[in-house]
Amino acid sequence: MKTINKDLLSNITILYIEDEKMIRDEVSYFFSKYVKNFHTATNGQEGLELYNQIKPDLIITDIQMPKMNGLDMIKEINNKKIPIIITTAFSDIDYFLKAIELNVNKFIIKPINLMELVKSIQECVYNNIIGDKLFEKENLLRIVDENVLISITDKDGKIIDASSAFCDFVEYSKEELIGKTHRILGHPDTTDEFYINMWQQISSGKKFNAEIKNRKKGGEIYWANLTITPVIKDNEVINYTAIRQDITNKKRLEQLAIEDTLTGVYNRRYFNKIIEKELRRTKRENLNLCLLSIDIDDFKKYNDTFGHPKGDEVLIKVAQSLKFSASRATDFVFRMGGEEFCIIFSGLDTEKSLEFSNELVKKIENLQIEHIEDRVVTISAGLVSMNANDILDEEELYRFSDDALYEAKARGKNQVVLFEKE
Ligand code: GH3
Ligand code: MG
Ligand code: MG
Repeated sequence: MKTINKDLLSNITILYIEDEKMIRDEVSYFFSKYVKNFHTATNGQEGLELYNQIKPDLIITDIQMPKMNGLDMIKEINNKKIPIIITTAFSDIDYFLKAIELNVNKFIIKPINLMELVKSIQECVYNNIIGDKLFEKENLLRIVDENVLISITDKDGKIIDASSAFCDFVEYSKEELIGKTHRILGHPDTTDEFYINMWQQISSGKKFNAEIKNRKKGGEIYWANLTITPVIKDNEVINYTAIRQDITNKKRLEQLAIEDTLTGVYNRRYFNKIIEKELRRTKRENLNLCLLSIDIDDFKKYNDTFGHPKGDEVLIKVAQSLKFSASRATDFVFRMGGEEFCIIFSGLDTEKSLEFSNELVKKIENLQIEHIEDRVVTISAGLVSMNANDILDEEELYRFSDDALYEAKARGKNQVVLFEKE
């Protein structure tokens, strides 16, 4: 540090104590150019009083002074953190030794070399700033440990460290986590494909970000927004740092917005969104798109006979059966309102899709839910199965399936009718 660091000097408050007027004036005059808050006192007593008023960042003091000497003043101040520079004549060697006991940072031998004094001031303040930063860093690490859901794995995905916050969150102790992979938090809904894609990305040194469904030790499900950052050294991945935010509540709200509250299948609002999306996708991929409109047969009579609550139970059972059967990634089951359901699926030709629809109808009959007059609960359905590029829009698609459903009712219910254009 050879030059004068004006930025550093202009931001600090210095207290300078010196009884000899000539030296005091010379030093003050010099520093007034650089240090805005440069205060002077003429003896230890005055210095002590001023210290309490201005709370300086640094003290420069002479030793031998009337009323109170420099060392007694330092003892009174009793602040181990504040940097202290002593300006001393060589003859003050005894005081010199005492000063060491008092943690004095620097000694400047009189006559004062102003540049040397500047250098000492800058070093003291700079070291103090660095000290603060180190403190901040440690403090920061503690805050991170207590608040951030972070885990570190080796290049094979074995956990080598985890923050306290993460351990608390997933209900595992650090010992239980270390040496394991994150699979111990895995949820069966997260596909192998997800992990394959993730590993492809991170092992090539790329950052990975995704929403993931996981499970805590006690079985509780949580959703996390996960970011994995590869740690690279000498062009090689050595570790992975995984940080996540808990987004379970957000996911729950999202789920509520698209779910039918009674049956748990998707609601009509979501139908409007998905039908548009699936129509676009299947047009692009030139696939068959299927829409199956479903309505429970004679449900009014069911309610009138068994009561509304029993009717609700039927709605739930039918919905669950449909959802269970239509479970591919591109199958979507909706409750459109009342006792009407709808299924969007794709990728099957017309014959296969009719077969699939017939099975669904059969399965409901096979649930053997008691209806009136020795009958069981059944459904009727209208199927549209067309190449997506022959479909004008989603309104047309829905109208066609509804026409076919109407036909299924007319033909005696408990059956599927395939829509045909003629
Ligand atoms: P169809 O075989 O021609 O479909 O006759 P249906 O009686 O099933 O048809 P309709 O449209 O005449 O009656 C539908 C009935 O569905 C009327 C209502 O009692 C019942 N329903 C609608 N929403 C609910 C519901 O949320 N819970 C219950 N329990 N019943 C409902
Ligand atoms: Mg109806
Ligand atoms: Mg009905």
